[in-house]
Amino acid sequence: MLVLLPRLLLILALLSVAVHCAVAETQLRVAGDLYTQVNSEGSQVPPVVENDLALTQLSNLLAEENVGEALQLATRVVSLDPDNAIARRMLGYQLVPGPDGTEHWCGGYAALMYERGNLWHEEFGWIKAGDRDRWEAGERPWGKKWITPTEDGEHHATIARGWTVRTDHFHVTTNHSREAAVDLATRLETLHQIWRQQFGEFDVSARELQARLDGKQPTGYRRKPFKVIYHRTRDQYNAALLRRQPQIAKTLGIYFDRERETHFFAGEDQDPGTIYHEAVHQFFFESRKANKNFARLANAWATEGVACYFESLARGERNGDSSMYTLGGAEAGRLPAARHRRLVDNYYVPLEELSSLGMLELQRRKDLPRLYSQSAGLATFFMEYEGGKYRPAFRELLAAIYAGRDEPTTLEAATGVSFETLDEQYREFLALTKSLQQKTNHEEHKDHKVGID
Ligand SMILES: [Zn+2]
Repeated sequence: MLVLLPRLLLILALLSVAVHCAVAETQLRVAGDLYTQVNSEGSQVPPVVENDLALTQLSNLLAEENVGEALQLATRVVSLDPDNAIARRMLGYQLVPGPDGTEHWCGGYAALMYERGNLWHEEFGWIKAGDRDRWEAGERPWGKKWITPTEDGEHHATIARGWTVRTDHFHVTTNHSREAAVDLATRLETLHQIWRQQFGEFDVSARELQARLDGKQPTGYRRKPFKVIYHRTRDQYNAALLRRQPQIAKTLGIYFDRERETHFFAGEDQDPGTIYHEAVHQFFFESRKANKNFARLANAWATEGVACYFESLARGERNGDSSMYTLGGAEAGRLPAARHRRLVDNYYVPLEELSSLGMLELQRRKDLPRLYSQSAGLATFFMEYEGGKYRPAFRELLAAIYAGRDEPTTLEAATGVSFETLDEQYREFLALTKSLQQKTNHEEHKDHKVGID
């Protein structure tokens, strides 16, 4: 392990790079792997720093139980130095030979698939390595026979007989096409990497990460993957789910926590932000044991707000570096709507009142769409204000909510700041993001869509 240290620490210079802009927006990276296929070749390689410093920084973050930032650091290391074994191991990767002998950094499920003679194909997902040419020539396996793509489509025309694509964290079923399932699964793997860097403590403990730092090889996959059902069309989605959710036609995606599955549809009406939103509900609920009555009596806004915050996820590609993403941008997701409501319409439900609303009370409000954009704005504020000074408190609030031990005043207690002061700081924060705007007269009011769950 010691010989690898210099490479790890080369990265530590990145630690000194501010990743949070002064007003809003977090810049994060995604580690290149089988699914994400990003490369960071355009990145500037930082100067080498002392090895001890980097390790100390990782250890310090873990001692503070700051799992998210430790994962951010490990991800930044990997994006600069893709073969850094320590950082890879912290993120759950192992180095495994593929069927052609080349080695890949991958999670435990992928390792198992390689062991069984499969390869990951960027269009078709996991296929038998020896069948690659037939797949690429347009043949599809069906039992012991080979059939045409048209015949394959007929066999998988209904969702009950759909194709399934499995990755290290997701299991996607679709009757659209295998390619669509691969595309969705890889988008979700990317989102999961990003989410984990902001709320990593929901995914892995500081103690486990310290063990990985000390040499433990993690399994790096979910034995029970997140279940995702991807309907071929919007109409099929509506028809399949109407009985479970009478208002399904008003939704663009949904998460059912009892069944532990998200549902989306392909086609023109698909909204990528909604996919992020519902998947984030799924991550929070399923990543560690959650109280099934979470947010029943208070703080429902925070669970919706944080899901809305991830709607702002955008590629931050620059200089050929495709590993960069941004969250919480001034013009992204529902922030423009939140800003307009607060600063122009003077619409605002004070935090003390908002925090006292449980899920049913929130969903019954006549001003629900505006409350969603306000919740998005508040979540962005708590994640981004003054370089993230309230981020630990907001994480604490969400942990309390999902554990079922929150109170209407948990946020005040966690921040150590009164609701009234937070209300005022939120307004100031929005005013600051306004000054970043280019198109002051063309604010998009993206608060018309509302997740029902
Ligand atoms: Zn929602």
